[in-house]
Amino acid sequence: MPTRAQNLIVALDQGTTSTRSVAFDSEGRIFASHQVALPQHYPGDGWVEHDAEDIWRAARETLQRTLADAGQGRVAAIGITNQRETSVLWDRKTGRPLARAIVWQDRRTADQCARLRAKGLEPGIQKLTGLLLDPYFSASKLGWLLDHVKDGRARAEAGELAFGTVDSWLIWNLTGGAVHATDATNASRTSLFNISTQSWDSDLLSWFGIPRAVLPDVRDSVGPFGIAKGDLVGADLPILAVAGDQQAAAVGQACLKPGLMKSTYGTGCFAIANTGERFIVSQNRLLSTVASRIGGHTTYALEGSIFMAGATIQWLRDKLRLFDDAAQSSVLAVQADPHSNVMLVPAFTGLGAPYWDADARAAITGLTRNDGAAEIARAGLESVSFQTRDLLEAMAADLAATGEPAPHALRVDGGMVVNDWFCQNLADLTGRVIERPVVTETTALGAAYLAALAAGIFASTDDIARAWRLDRRFEPVMGEDQRNARYERWQQAVARVRLKAEH
Ligand code: ADP
Repeated sequence: MPTRAQNLIVALDQGTTSTRSVAFDSEGRIFASHQVALPQHYPGDGWVEHDAEDIWRAARETLQRTLADAGQGRVAAIGITNQRETSVLWDRKTGRPLARAIVWQDRRTADQCARLRAKGLEPGIQKLTGLLLDPYFSASKLGWLLDHVKDGRARAEAGELAFGTVDSWLIWNLTGGAVHATDATNASRTSLFNISTQSWDSDLLSWFGIPRAVLPDVRDSVGPFGIAKGDLVGADLPILAVAGDQQAAAVGQACLKPGLMKSTYGTGCFAIANTGERFIVSQNRLLSTVASRIGGHTTYALEGSIFMAGATIQWLRDKLRLFDDAAQSSVLAVQADPHSNVMLVPAFTGLGAPYWDADARAAITGLTRNDGAAEIARAGLESVSFQTRDLLEAMAADLAATGEPAPHALRVDGGMVVNDWFCQNLADLTGRVIERPVVTETTALGAAYLAALAAGIFASTDDIARAWRLDRRFEPVMGEDQRNARYERWQQAVARVRLKAEH
């Protein structure tokens, strides 16, 4: 048990574009925080890399500064949350990475995935992992690293090399190379982990050609991951929780029971619905994933992602120059002709769940001479709501097939949800109640809550649910007929950008 003075938890939040350390008090208030931007490397078409040494340096620096601000003896523990799927391979003896980390967005292994699909392996992979066969997940990235590092496979088989998602890389470094571990939420994104038996799976390892000796130990999300060394970060501190970023955000939103759902609206959008003890194999091209593993008890979730959410607003701002600041999008949307039928399908990089159509490209449809900037801005905001309805429809279908009710409320966070017009539109076009919490820094908060649970600051997950505070609730006011008519127009617009896929 921590002492009374030790009432702070530090979340280390290692994201795609930055690394942050945030000290929270037990009320979820931010006490101190530091952030360092992460350089991106694009060495080829569709390739995205990070330097794992940059990640570790930034983690160490932000932790040192945040712990110094928090003051001697005030911090009880560290919780880690991280960009998922990004793959690091390092030498166990030197602790040095053998290549740059391959980032989740990287598509270089598309051909390898296509070969496995041609062998008919996708249904088997989905049944074991809950995932689709896609370069997004770690397995094919690790395969690529082993193929391109000198003697990679032989050295991996001899136990000389270590693989990890970013959490494992950070734990290894923080503990001075003493611990090679990950948690079940991160393991569930590798495509090597059987999410029913909660173990690395020999069929998956052989399909992807991965030697078992390279993999980390898989632990509960809440529990000991070793001691971060004082000579590295300023104080000896236990690492007591680890979770992937979207799973941590679901905890930060207190989506801890079946039927609760969160959706994060940043650059893209990630929606997660807690399905409790049920692992549902999606029939609608959603992902199933581990939401958390606490005390050996696994909770599952259905997940859907959209590539373009806030990024659509950025495009309207930077490329169409409709406004200077994202917040002005709602000023234009209010001015739009309510009878306009303009639709913007933001398939700039294809479409994500539930379409998974890499060939689709964006379009603005339904323009008349009466339509202008206001109608297009509104269509951009509405596209995020319509895409959310697409995800909700897919989730509802998967849940109905298993006899579970669909979530009726949606807890939202991320940069877009400061926009009240958008939140109301989301309620109207999805027909769901939208709940916006006071604290929208849900990813770091979730990691801190999990560590607080392990440290005994929280007695149970009920304390996390009690700590969640509503800022504002948005109820649907649009009539059912209008909602469905508009959704039909959206579906027609999507069908147009997908013509190639269908013929
Ligand atoms: P990320 O974590 O992916 O970098 P954030 O959660 O910081 O993203 O959210 C930033 C996104 O939110 C940007 O894409 C921006 O266009 C969008 N955004 C910010 N403010 C608003 C607003 N008032 N209305 C609509 N979109 C907004």
